[in-house]
Amino acid sequence: MSHVMNTYARLPVAFVRGQGVWLYDESGKQYLDALAGIAVNTLGYAHPRLVRALTEQIGRVIHTSNLFQMPLQEQAADRIAEITGLDEVFFCNSGLEANEAAIKVARKYGHDRGVAEPAIIVMEKAFHGRSLATLSATGSRKVQAGFEPLVQGFVRVPLNDLEAVRQVAANNKNVVAVFIEPIQGEGGINVSRLDYLRGLKEICEHNDWLFMSDEVQCGLGRTGKWFVYQHAGIQPDVVPLAKGLASGVPVGACVVGNRAKGVFKPGNHGSTFGGNPLAMCGVVTTLDTVKDEGLLENAVKVGDAIRSGLASALGGLAGVTEIRGMGMMIGVELDRPCGEIVKTALARGLVTNVTADNVIRIVPPLVMSEVEGRQVVERLAPIVREFLQQPADATQPARAAAAR
Ligand SMILES: *Cc1c(COP(=O)(O)O)cnc(C)c1O
Repeated sequence: MSHVMNTYARLPVAFVRGQGVWLYDESGKQYLDALAGIAVNTLGYAHPRLVRALTEQIGRVIHTSNLFQMPLQEQAADRIAEITGLDEVFFCNSGLEANEAAIKVARKYGHDRGVAEPAIIVMEKAFHGRSLATLSATGSRKVQAGFEPLVQGFVRVPLNDLEAVRQVAANNKNVVAVFIEPIQGEGGINVSRLDYLRGLKEICEHNDWLFMSDEVQCGLGRTGKWFVYQHAGIQPDVVPLAKGLASGVPVGACVVGNRAKGVFKPGNHGSTFGGNPLAMCGVVTTLDTVKDEGLLENAVKVGDAIRSGLASALGGLAGVTEIRGMGMMIGVELDRPCGEIVKTALARGLVTNVTADNVIRIVPPLVMSEVEGRQVVERLAPIVREFLQQPADATQPARAAAAR
């Protein structure tokens, strides 16, 4: 019996090695990776520059403490300030921690302005993490159920609905921030309209609210710009980051600027591991490599190749509701739950994932080539076709069982 706590339904494959966008299991079988450890492995596997930098860093020092100066943390923060256009970076170790810091910044910002019970506008279907505050901000009952009482102070509205936000603005004087995942990952690759993001920013400006853009999954180059808000030409006040930030070394960052600059003072927040030299080496090397290898341009080129390939192979097929996304963050929505596609794909040497029950999620390493992108399409398209050709009963076990 396994002593690992049973919090994940794990697939029966153990990857023991990787190279580029290719993974290998214990038997030596090769898999094409269209998942990147859930949008984490920016540089794929065993990238020589990352391997060298991390190896050398481990030989020097892994951890000291935030009680002391850390030149590598300064370097990482400088780079993040440059690409975000913001001012201050708090380093932590995961996405939920980055979001927890963002929520604390918003509350502190409210209290500093005399709002005793600050509230944050959040979106339906959003995912912000699994700590008590971040699961309360998350728009999924599945994530929240069993952990009530929830943290108070969140007001929920539908994504892409400015009128709903205006109504809250008119009726709730406690609101101090809007918190949005500009492309929802776990929620099913739901893309915010750019005019919606601009409208939201305007409302924030008008009301002196913080605009907080959770770019933990969609940020860091995946969409062809460093951040999704840059597609809309706007500047947020708070940007939580994690997943792809160090290509797999655990790290998170809460980046602030504009209205949120200077909100946290010494003693307001902290993390023992946060920003340690090993993680910072991962950040600096990842960001420099993304820049030097032109991976933003690559995300556009290869993402377009995958999306257009999938559109011509699957578009218009009965059962395919929509193919959507931006750059290398792509969702194929089917009209029925399709979790079993993940297993079929694995058996045929393709690593992918299904989120929100019926959306195939494609978030490959940013180092994927166009040829490899086409291979993703060549492997995935027939699997989807075959899946949709099965009798409806066989593809809808949950609904069929419920009907019985
Ligand atoms: C994954 C994710 C998180 C949580 O990150 P963890 O590192 O798992 O805590 C938060 N927000 C978004 C948008 C995510 O995709």
